[in-house]
Amino acid sequence: MSPSASVTPAAASEPRVSVLGEAQRRPEGSCALVTGAGRGIGRAIALALAEDGWPVAVNYRSSGDAAAATVAAIEAAGGRAVAIQGDVADPSVPAQLVEAVHTQLGPIAVLVNNAGLRADGLALSLTDEDWQRVLDTNLGSTYRLTRTVLREMIRARFGRIVNIASVVGPRANAGQANYAASKAAVIAFTKTAAVEVARRGVTVNAVAPGLIATDMTEDIPTALGERVPAQRPGRPEEVAAAVAFLASERASYITASTLYVDGGLSA
Ligand code: NAP
Repeated sequence: MSPSASVTPAAASEPRVSVLGEAQRRPEGSCALVTGAGRGIGRAIALALAEDGWPVAVNYRSSGDAAAATVAAIEAAGGRAVAIQGDVADPSVPAQLVEAVHTQLGPIAVLVNNAGLRADGLALSLTDEDWQRVLDTNLGSTYRLTRTVLREMIRARFGRIVNIASVVGPRANAGQANYAASKAAVIAFTKTAAVEVARRGVTVNAVAPGLIATDMTEDIPTALGERVPAQRPGRPEEVAAAVAFLASERASYITASTLYVDGGLSA
């Protein structure tokens, strides 16, 4: 456009775009689904979403007692939650899990793909089984669950999908070729899915934690924590706060982003 070109003002009758319009309010009776929410970061995310008023479906694979404890903690705080078992790495499970959430809690407005695992080994000695297990859990479940909930979110003109990536992904980490590949792919998948549905009131973002104190990092030497500019590992609640924000109405114009929660590690 040349500097002298004029812009015709929008006619008064033309609809205006409002980020806080009707389409950005959470649908009545809808809920959140968090995968792998019995323990660790997933548990903290479930608690944070419940605190924001979301009924929460707490998915778990094997930690039934921990999932029951997450539900009990949410109920004790006045919230609503159900625990639903399901191994999300199994390609048939995501559709069944979504069906179970619909029956027990209602339509899904927030999906947090948190379930994840590592099975470390140098690229030259990784087994095909460890490669596939990590890809199926961290990436396959994210793809299948996203695909399954997108239609209902588009119909509702509201949806929030938050995928848990990692600082390992965009960066190298010797011994974690499978994990890094899965998390880099989660970020790539997040961006593409986000642009595909951006017009529909559905946001898709990634949160990339650094070193967070959970069972997953129990065996990581404390010296690594000293490499973090914040000079300490993060707490699951610090990751959960970022997820809860991205899941809220306030984050209506944030999509296709990766939010690092890493005490400065990725810098
Ligand atoms: P964690 O303490 O080891 O917990 C892993 C969670 O994932 C558990 O609740 C586990 O459920 C669930 N899970 C694993 N495989 C599953 C499957 N097939 N189906 C359903 N649930 C499954 O790990 P975390 O540290 O909380 O990690 C949570 C997420 O953050 C993961 O995606 C991880 O890659 C990511 N992350 C963690 C860190 C960190 O420093 N901790 C850093 C970056 C990213 P069950 O116990 O029921 O099996």
